[in-house]
Amino acid sequence: MRVEDLELIANHSLSKDYYVLDLQAKDKIPDILPGQFAQVRVDNNKETFLRRPISVYDIDYKKNIINLLIKEVGKGTRALSELKPGAVLNLIYPLGNNFSMAEEGSKSLLVGGGVGVAPLLLQAKALRERSLDFAFLLGYQTAGQIIEIERFSKQGEVLIATEDGSQGNKGLVTDHPVLHEGAYNRIYCCGPDPMMKAVAGIAKANDIFCEVSLENTMACGYGVCLCCVVETNRGYINTCTEGPVFNIKELKWQI
Ligand SMILES: Cc1cc2nc3c(=O)[nH]c(=O)nc-3n(C[C@H](O)[C@H](O)[C@H](O)COP(=O)(O)OP(=O)(O)OC[C@H]3O[C@@H](n4cnc5c(N)ncnc54)[C@H](O)[C@@H]3O)c2cc1C
Repeated sequence: MRVEDLELIANHSLSKDYYVLDLQAKDKIPDILPGQFAQVRVDNNKETFLRRPISVYDIDYKKNIINLLIKEVGKGTRALSELKPGAVLNLIYPLGNNFSMAEEGSKSLLVGGGVGVAPLLLQAKALRERSLDFAFLLGYQTAGQIIEIERFSKQGEVLIATEDGSQGNKGLVTDHPVLHEGAYNRIYCCGPDPMMKAVAGIAKANDIFCEVSLENTMACGYGVCLCCVVETNRGYINTCTEGPVFNIKELKWQI
């Protein structure tokens, strides 16, 4: 883990709420595993005292650039959306654990909803590097919300579900036939809690390996404040240091 100033070299607005920050590190970026995150300091605002946890979305190790995909939901993410190239962002990173690697011959489904698609890209890259079979299943309310599809499509097949049926399969991601056909034996999932619980329920019912990346509210990000605890078979543990990625068998979820 390091604490480092990175320079914002581009802030790409993708849609009304979503943007990607390109952050240039001065030195060599450390190895960052899929699912790990950064605690981002939001400067010049008394109301954004706590750092915000944001997944590492993409990395260019040759150019030492880290990308963050962010959805504007409150004061901190709004302040970050307004930053201009040249701004400096202080990050504590890499934090947390990571998605596990799939085994030879496996077929993985990477299920994302909303900004939960962010940690799935690096996992897809890792699977692709090892020539392992996978597809994305990404869910949105409507086609207009679909973002970064080119970046995901470069890695592999992308299946889409929209609630209004404007693109892909009509309905929630959990209605998509691919989740019910039994063709995939591993699921990696990140998104809103109700979505992850529904996906976990399908995985459990069909005895499919499933890891979820939790987005619990957290203040410190490194195990001190205990804001982000989650109930597991091992008792209450920190999402920030023991997670954010958990096998669903560990979690005491009512599914
Ligand atoms: C591991 C992880 C990865 C994430 N990855 C991404 C990502 O890639 N992209 C993305 O857009 N979002 C991501 N999120 C969600 C993101 O962190 C939140 O959307 C963001 O913190 C909201 O900040 P805000 O100031 O805009 O919202 P606001 O709602 O204005 O403020 C949230 C702030 O209040 C604090 N807070 C609120 N309630 C409590 C409480 N009970 N205890 C302690 N602190 C509290 C939070 O810690 C945070 O600092 C991730 C979250 C986690 C945990």
